[in-house]
Order: sequence, then structure tokens, then C-alpha cells
Amino acid sequence: MSNPLLETAVFPPFARIEADHVIPALQQILSDNRKGIEELLNQPPPGWQLIQQLEQLDDRLNQAWSPVSHMNAVVNSDSLRQAYNEALPLLSEYNTELGQNEKLFQAIRQLADSEGYAELNQSQRQLLDNALRDFKLSGIDLSAEDKLRYGELQKRLSELSSQFSENVLDATQSWSLHFEQAEALAGLPDTALALAVQTATARDLSGYVITLDFPSYFAVMTYGDNRQLREQVYQAYCTRASDQGPDAGKWDNSSIINELLSLRHALAQLLGFTNYAEYSLATKMAENADQVVSFLRDLAQKSLPMAQQELKELQQFANQQDGISELKAWDIGYYSEQLRQCRYAVSQEELRPYFPIDKVLSGLFSVASKLFAVDIEAVTADEVWHSDVKFFRLQRQGVAIGYFYLDLYARDKKRGGAWMDECRVRRHCEDGSLQLPVAYLVCNFNPAVGDDPALLTHQEVTTLFHEFGHGLHHLLTEIDWAGVSGINGVAWDAVELPSQFMENWCWQPEALELISGHYQTQQSLPSELLDKLLAARNFQSGMMMVRQLEFALFDFLLHRDYCSQPATDVQALLNQVRSEVSVIKVPEYNRFQHGFSHIFSGGYGAGYYSYKWAEVLSADAFSRFEQEGVFNTATGRDFLDTILSKGGSAQPMQLFIDFMGREPSVDALLRHSGIQR
Ligand SMILES: [Zn+2]
Repeated sequence: MSNPLLETAVFPPFARIEADHVIPALQQILSDNRKGIEELLNQPPPGWQLIQQLEQLDDRLNQAWSPVSHMNAVVNSDSLRQAYNEALPLLSEYNTELGQNEKLFQAIRQLADSEGYAELNQSQRQLLDNALRDFKLSGIDLSAEDKLRYGELQKRLSELSSQFSENVLDATQSWSLHFEQAEALAGLPDTALALAVQTATARDLSGYVITLDFPSYFAVMTYGDNRQLREQVYQAYCTRASDQGPDAGKWDNSSIINELLSLRHALAQLLGFTNYAEYSLATKMAENADQVVSFLRDLAQKSLPMAQQELKELQQFANQQDGISELKAWDIGYYSEQLRQCRYAVSQEELRPYFPIDKVLSGLFSVASKLFAVDIEAVTADEVWHSDVKFFRLQRQGVAIGYFYLDLYARDKKRGGAWMDECRVRRHCEDGSLQLPVAYLVCNFNPAVGDDPALLTHQEVTTLFHEFGHGLHHLLTEIDWAGVSGINGVAWDAVELPSQFMENWCWQPEALELISGHYQTQQSLPSELLDKLLAARNFQSGMMMVRQLEFALFDFLLHRDYCSQPATDVQALLNQVRSEVSVIKVPEYNRFQHGFSHIFSGGYGAGYYSYKWAEVLSADAFSRFEQEGVFNTATGRDFLDTILSKGGSAQPMQLFIDFMGREPSVDALLRHSGIQR
């Protein structure tokens, strides 16, 4: 039977978006939406129609805003950035209003309490449950007085978060070291030296300037032969925005951290939670705080012996190389890199010729095709934002199911990093048509040079697979309601499952045959290089594991066990976590927490564990493919049907159990990391 729903296919007019029109157009839509919502609520349409009409309004806004926000990131200009920044407060004001709209809350609650609720399907019920939960989290249930308090807390919390990151930024930028000669910088690769020269020139200096910006800091810590210099840079870096180090007290985040913790605790309690960790878990897959803590401690306990062994080997190596009898924190990165080179002698640069972009893409598409029965082909887009951009259509049995834009190369005015974003979400429209999902996939790879094609490192190939996994989650959804279709409504600690899952194929010999082929000889990655690559994959994985666990456990315990009287001693808690799970001793002046922006200004408060959580899910899910065959079509279909296609329409734990037949286990991740056999 053919699909009765029509496909709507009008794509964003990228080439015609003008900065001058952004604000007036947005204001028009926001004002239309405000009116629209009020009209809807004066006489709420019966049953599900209410949600459908709300989604319609929301979708119009998203479709206007998505290309603007996207272009601001990939073809930035002063005028567009100005319009974008002007738009942000308008949007946030509108969203706050929605979250506080009592009438809207009542209408949705009535729908959820009505007899009709039972007749709704799983995705519809989940959407209503999420909506009610989010209303509660924005304080809709509170008394008038508490609502006021809620608003004050939120306002102050956002000020504190922004001060925290400003302090880190200022502290990072204020410090630098100047050298006339390159001598002190011995060991640094040419690219890092060139950066140091460039930084000096920008400051009207001759010679070289080292800063605390990550590329500069990282290069010194990894390659700098001069131990004293490493110590000096290390000290400056790990005391940023604190009471210690070269700028002690200047941008000190100590009191901001204390106030943030205290106000987060108050906010959680105001909303009826025992602590902020519980509040954070209200929107996550993990069920309760104990579960998260035991999860982290279990992984730590299993990984520690390996981490200790790796550190011992590193200590021996440093001793043999340079007679270092006691490894310090500023020696770890440096000797690790030396040891890695000496053991595996494989560099990412060496792998590039085997991964020309066209081969990688066709390989990636055939992996997706084998696993999820989807055909992907390039089509012509009506409009794109840059001539590099390619446009693709996903089809199943000749029927289009989604589209994506691919913008692969680094260029001026384009934000760094790699990401997937929604251009449009799959949705069953009011007129009976089906809106197909559209995604943006963005990377920052080196473009083609001369007659040679663009060549990727293996790391970049992995990045591409990762973002493509997010893309598949968005594009292969079969859910018809925007609020829970694709990545919408997916819990934060589960949203990285499909992306990390796809990375696994970059390490499978069968898949590498599809995605690699020397750009001159078409030869697949030789087995000797492949072996080195696989062996190097788990280098120091124990040490890396416990480092992440230290951050995650510190973050979580800090928010779970916070006490106001007397206020929790943050440093003491960190020291305690370190003594429990860390293998590297840090000097007493280390104030890592003062620059831990993820949790104090980045939305990861009591949520840093999510990284490991999702890694466990993806490794575990992949273990079924290891047993049943990495290209087993039935297993692929199963993953599609139980997880990928379901979006946020059900609890992620349920979806996982549907696929695996049991709850997640850490074994596969430990095995993939070489920590367990
Ligand atoms: Zn991701």
C-alpha cells in the first residue's frame, strides 16, 4: 500500500536570507504565535488537535530560525551575528513565557487526564508526559511567592554561570610567555611553532608567544622537551580563575562556585527534589542518584588496576629515557606521547592517503545501507549557503524518507568542530501531509589541495561516522510528532548512543575495506597499518577511563551531597574523589574545578556522567553485532526498529531492553577499551 501522506518539500531559502530581515521576520512570527496560542487556549480544540496545532506554530518558528542560526555558525558575518545576538533574548523570553503559561499547562493537563489519553499511542503519551514534566521543572506548580523566588534563582544562576566562564576566559587570555629564541620550545611541532610566531606577531612582538589557549597549552604539554617550561605552563593552566598560581585571586571563581552550588540546591528543593542531582536526573535515562554513583564506582574499580599498570609502565619509560625518577603531573602528557610513538609508530598523517573523501562517503553510505536498508544519493538542492555544500536524499524502496546537507571543509567565517543539527523535523501535518526530516551535517576537515582530493585522518573518519550517527537518529525516525521525533525528547545521557555506536564501524576490518582506498592506487588500508591502528586504539585507555570517572564522580557527588550548613568544602570533596579513583598525583595548588566550565557554566551540572553512560550503551549495543556479524542485516533492522526509528517516543531504558533483551552492562565497553577480556 502506498503512503497516503503527501510529502512537503519546500527547502530553506539560504541564498535569500538577509540579516536585515531576520529580526522583523522573527518578531512577526513570535507575535503571530502569541496570538495563535491565545486563540487556541480560549477555546481549546478537542483532544490531540490541540497538540497538533501547537506543533504547527512551533514548527513555523523553527523553520524560520533554524537556517538563520545555522548560517550564523557556518557563514558568519558581522550583520548576521548582530541579528542573531539580537534574536536570542527574544526567543528566550518567548520560551520562558510558554513554560510559565498557566492556561497552556491546564489545557495539556486536561488532555493527559482525559479518557482520550488511553487511546493515544505510546509516542503521543510520551509527548504529553514530557510536556507536563517540563512545566513542573519550570515551576508552574509553585505558589505565587515561590514562583517569584524561582525566577530570581534562575536569573542569578544564569548570571553566575556567565561570570564563571568570563573569569575562565579572562584568566586564560591574560597569561602568556614570550621567547625571542625557539630554543626553549624544542620538541614542538612546526604547526605549534607557527602558531606561536603568529601569536607574537599579532601582539607586535618578535619571536614566539605561548598562551593558555588549548592548542598552545596542549602542544607544550605534549611535545615540549623543556621540563621547567612544562611545569610553568601546567601551573598557570590548572590555577586559572582561582586563588592560586601566577594570577592568584584576580579572577577567582571560588565564591561563584559556592554560590552556584548553594542556589542550585535551593532551586532543586523549591521544586520538590532532595538535591540538584535528583533534579538533573528528572530528565535523564538514569533512574536515581545511587544508580549513577554505583555505575561510576563500578567502572572505576574495574579500570583502576589497568590504569595503575599503565602509569607504572610510563614511569619506567620516563626513567629509562631521561632518568625521571618521579613522574609529575606535567610529565604525563609528554612521556605518554613519546611512549606512544615508540610503541606504535603510526601517525594520523600517514593514514590520510587511504581515506580520500569520496571513498569514505561511499563506504559510509554502504555501511548505512547494509545495516538499515536505506539508499543515499546526492541530489541537487534548490539553494545552499556555500558552494562546498552537498545535498543528499535518503530513500527506502524508492520512497524518499529524509534529506541532509553536508558541509565538510574548514573555511573562514565557519565555526570550528563538527556537529549535526536539525533543519527540519519529521512531522505529521494538519493537512494530512508528512513533513520529512532534514539535517545539517557539519565538519571542519582540510579541503582538497591542488589536484589531490580531500584526504581524511582516521580520527576525522571517526568524527564523520559519529555525526552521521546523530544524523541517522534524526532522519530514520518513524515518529510523527515533532516533540518526540528524531533526537527530540531524547534524554541527554542517551542521545550519544547512535553516534558513538556508528563509530564502531571505523574499527572493523570489513568496514575499513569499504571506506578506505589509497587515492592513487585504490589499495585498501594495508593490514600492517591496520594492525598498528587497532593496537594504538587502547593505548592508556585505563588512565583515560579513570580520568573521566574522576570528573564525573566529583560532579555528581558535589551535587548529590551538597550541604549548606556548613557549606560543602569543594576542594576536600575533590581530594577525596581523587584518592578514590585517580592514579595521577596533582600538586596541591591544582584548582581544576575553577575551570570546569562543563558543570559550572555549560549545562552538564550533575550530568557529566552522561558521556560514560552513553559510551556503555553504545558499546553494549554493538556487542550484539560482534556476536551476530557486523553486517548482519537482521540485527541492523532490529537496531533500527527498536532504537533509531523510535526517537524520544519511549523511555530510553525500555528501547535499550527491547534491543538487547536486558539492561545495559559495562562489560562490552571494558572489553573494547582493553580493560577486560
Ligand atoms: Zn555527539
